[in-house]
Amino acid sequence: MDVADLRSGLADLMASSKQELQARFVKWIERHMESHEVVVDDAIGRILEEIVSILIDSVRDGRYEKVLLRLKGFIDEPGFEQAEAGLRAFRTILVNEVNRSMGDVETKHCTIELIYKDFDLMLDVISRLYERMYALRLEKRIEERTAELVEAQGLYEGLVENSPIGVCIVQDDMIVFANDRLAGIGGYAKEDITGVDYRLLMAPESLDNVIEGIERRQKGLDGPLTYRTKGVRRDGSPVEVEVYSIPTTFKGKPATQCVVRDISREKKIEQLRQSFFSNVSHELRTPLTTISGYIKFLLGGKMGELNQSQMQALQAANEEADKLDRLIDTVIELSSFDSESFRLHLGDVDVARVTEETARSKESQAKHKDLRLEVNLPENLPHVVGDERRLGLLMSNIIDNAIKFTPGGGAVKIAGHEEGSDVVIEVSDTGIGIPKEEQSKIFDRFYQVDSSPTRMHGGAGLGLSICKEIVDLHGGRIEVESDVGKGSTFRVCLPREGKRE
Ligand code: ADP
Repeated sequence: MDVADLRSGLADLMASSKQELQARFVKWIERHMESHEVVVDDAIGRILEEIVSILIDSVRDGRYEKVLLRLKGFIDEPGFEQAEAGLRAFRTILVNEVNRSMGDVETKHCTIELIYKDFDLMLDVISRLYERMYALRLEKRIEERTAELVEAQGLYEGLVENSPIGVCIVQDDMIVFANDRLAGIGGYAKEDITGVDYRLLMAPESLDNVIEGIERRQKGLDGPLTYRTKGVRRDGSPVEVEVYSIPTTFKGKPATQCVVRDISREKKIEQLRQSFFSNVSHELRTPLTTISGYIKFLLGGKMGELNQSQMQALQAANEEADKLDRLIDTVIELSSFDSESFRLHLGDVDVARVTEETARSKESQAKHKDLRLEVNLPENLPHVVGDERRLGLLMSNIIDNAIKFTPGGGAVKIAGHEEGSDVVIEVSDTGIGIPKEEQSKIFDRFYQVDSSPTRMHGGAGLGLSICKEIVDLHGGRIEVESDVGKGSTFRVCLPREGKRE
């Protein structure tokens, strides 16, 4: 076969119908691909057909772009690499064939040159197809990803904008983003506060702790922080808010994201609750003091001799009045912890003396129940920084419980020692004990292991929650060890130096 034959052969080929040409071409390529162990599966077969069709079109009219678009439909098909490899293999075979069968060197060179030229054309088409396919695939991915982002952004914007909670981002002391609700808390519009120094919206007296918090966050020194503070409304009135702030980045720079809640209403309700508690407690106490006074007066025989049953009835009334009095004390104490004006009256406290005195005051109670009350505190137990009255109340509640929950004939022992920088007081009893699964709950308000109406022991389930509050306020710990039927040990650890801030 010489060059002229080859050319005329090609010309013939091009002149035949497209379908025919395509079928012949595909078969031709497939055969050679298979002889080079390139597996021609359905996917490759389809792609080959398409490539060949494109090749024919492009070779015929010399324009690639129009036919490239047709590939859009099967953009994710695999097999182009194999098609390219097949063509290269086929070219090698053809060249070898020409080398082997053609004698004349010049004709051979021309033929090979022609083959290279034609194949280069085909390979060029394939590589353009490749590029184009890649670009289309990328475009498609970008389109999908953009749609996802737009959707996510819409969702996020909707959530933030329609949130009933204020949200803002502070960067370099400036509010760089705020939602409507945040602006609404201060009676502003969003535009009024965006780009404004956040300090202008704060009550001057609240600035110090906020500035410190935000600065720490901006330096990324700390995790999330929740604090209550005061802002100023547009009309100059104060507004109580709770802020939850977390470090974030905004436009590539560190910033602070704040979630802000208006708590004015909560505060008002809380104040009402507190004043209700204190009013009710005082309203109850006044008549109770009179009732107690008269009972004690009568018991003392000041209004004439009493017979035995009158005496018993009055003693029962007296005990109940005392219980009621203690309950009122407990309620007043508990609501004082929640009050904003709550303060510990700190001083140097000799815990051993306070515990000893408290225990002594319970002696008649213990005796009444036929219990041994043993106090064994070392003389040189260090003092602590604390609130003497409240530490007395703490010990009183624990000893009261030990007496209450220990059956007659048992014992309550009080001991103490120094442990590192703590002073430890232990109150042990030989009482009914507390089941393991209840031990972590007994420090909760109103929790009682036996809360049935038929329970044997009185109480409101508040004593230990007061103990926990007092110990926490002193920076200490309260723990319990207990075996049902054997007894319990309550251990109070108080740091000598008081609570470290
Ligand atoms: P209460 O007024 O019921 O005594 P507390 O808060 O003082 O309330 O105690 C909560 C519960 O813990 C008690 O109801 C009781 O079930 C359990 N408890 C406390 N101290 C002891 C103890 N020493 N022995 C056994 N149970 C105890």
